[in-house]
Amino acid sequence: MNETRKLFVKSFGCQMNVYDSQRMADNLAPEGYVETATADDADLVILNTCHIREKAAEKVYSELGRIRVMKEAAAVEGRRLVIAVAGCVAQAEGGEIMRRAPAVDLVFGPQSYHRLPDLLARAERGEKPVDTEFPADDKFNHLAAPSRAALRRRGVTGFVTVQEGCDKFCSFCVVPYTRGAESSRPVRQVLAEIERLADAGVREVTLIGQNVNAYHGEGFDGRPWSLARLLAHAARISGIERLRYTTSHPGDMTDDLIAAHRDLGALMPQLHLPVQSGSDRVLAAMNRRHHRADYIDVVARLRHARPDLALSSDFIVGFPGETEADFAATLDLVGEIGYASAFSFNYSARPGTPGAELPDQIEDKVKSERLQRLQREIDRSQAAFNRRSLGETFDVLFERPGRHDGQIVGRSPYLQPLQVNAPQSLIGEIAAVTVTEISSNSLFGVLAPAPARQPALLGAEA
Ligand code: SF4
Repeated sequence: MNETRKLFVKSFGCQMNVYDSQRMADNLAPEGYVETATADDADLVILNTCHIREKAAEKVYSELGRIRVMKEAAAVEGRRLVIAVAGCVAQAEGGEIMRRAPAVDLVFGPQSYHRLPDLLARAERGEKPVDTEFPADDKFNHLAAPSRAALRRRGVTGFVTVQEGCDKFCSFCVVPYTRGAESSRPVRQVLAEIERLADAGVREVTLIGQNVNAYHGEGFDGRPWSLARLLAHAARISGIERLRYTTSHPGDMTDDLIAAHRDLGALMPQLHLPVQSGSDRVLAAMNRRHHRADYIDVVARLRHARPDLALSSDFIVGFPGETEADFAATLDLVGEIGYASAFSFNYSARPGTPGAELPDQIEDKVKSERLQRLQREIDRSQAAFNRRSLGETFDVLFERPGRHDGQIVGRSPYLQPLQVNAPQSLIGEIAAVTVTEISSNSLFGVLAPAPARQPALLGAEA
C-alpha cells in the first residue's frame, strides 16, 4: 500500500484543462495521492496552465513565486513540496520554466501526463524532468480509470475529451502548436468512459475537444466515425439524459451534425460556435477559412433543424488591421444572430503565431473602447434571450446547492443557470421549472406541476 500524499491541482483556462486535471488526479490515485483543496498542506502542487489569455506565462511565473515560498516553509517543517508545471504554458516554455523558476521540479505537456508517476519518481531522485513530447502512443490507453467515488464527488455533469489538437491554424491561436495535430479518441474508448460516468450518477455529458466537430475517431467498424454518429451512440447509454459538445469550428458543421440537433432528443438545444469577427477582411487575416455569409448560413441551417437553438460565440476585438468598418460588421453580426451569450476579448499577440508578425497592430485604447461597445451589444442580446424565458417552463437538471438556504441551482436546456427554492434531494434530478424572475442575467424559478414543454421558438426571434 502506498503512503498517502496530498495533491493540489490548480487548473487555468478551458474545460479541457479541467478534464486533464481530473485525469491527472485519477492517474495519481493508485500512487497514494489524494486531492486536497489548498496548496498549503500539499505534497505535490501541479499548475495546469493555459496559454490562451494575455501574459499567460507571466501569470504562471508569479504564481510560482508564491508556491516557492510555500515550498521553503514546508522545507523548514521537514516536508518536501514537489512543484510541477503542466498544460500549454509548459508545452510552450519547456525547460525555460526551470531556468526562470528553479523551485519547479518537473515540467510536462498536455500529451505526457500519463507518464506522471514515472516523472515524479525521477523528480524524487533529484532529476528535473521536462517532458513536452507529442508521443506516438495514445495517453488515454495508459491512464488509470477514476474510481466511482471520485466520479460521484465531481457531480451530476461530466466532461469527456473526445478530440485534441487542431489543424486549422487560425493566425491568432497557439493551440496547433501547444496541443499538436488533430487526433480523435476511438468510439469504443469514449463510450466506455461515458458508461462509467453514467454508472456513477452523471446525467449530462459534454464531449469536448479543441475542434470537437472535426471528430473522426475509429468506430466499431474500424472506419472513422463523425461526431454526429458518436453522439447518437452516446445518447443510447442508459442514465445519460443530456448531451452537449464544445468547441466547434463553423467550417466543420457537417449536415449529419446539423441533423442531430433535429433528431437527437438528448442533444441539448445550445451550441457554442465561435465566429471571432463579423468582417470578411478580418476573418481572412485570421485564417478562419470561412466567410461571414458561411457562418450566417450554418446558423440558419441549425435553426431550421432546431428552431429554439441557443447560440454562444467567441469574439476577438482589435485584430491587426481591424478598421472601424470591420468592427461595425462584428457589432452588426451580434445583432443579426442574436446570441444567448458570448465571450469577447481584446486581441493580444501570442509569440510564435502569424498574427503576432502582422503590421497594423491596433492601439490598446482603441481595442478597449471597441470591446466595451461589443460587450454592451452582447449584453443586450443576452438580456433579450433571457427575457423570452420569462414565464416559460423548462426541464432543469439540478447540479448543486444554491448560495442561500433552501436554494438549489440547475441548468436549463439552453445552459442558463436557474436558481430555485427546492429540496436538496432534487440535486441530480431533472424537474420542470417555470421561470418567474430575471435579474442581471440570473434566472429564478419555481418547480412546475406540469411536465416541461420545450418552447419551440425561444432562440429563433433574434
Ligand atoms: S479552430 Fe480553434 S483551436 Fe483551431 S486554430 Fe482556430 S481558434 Fe485555435
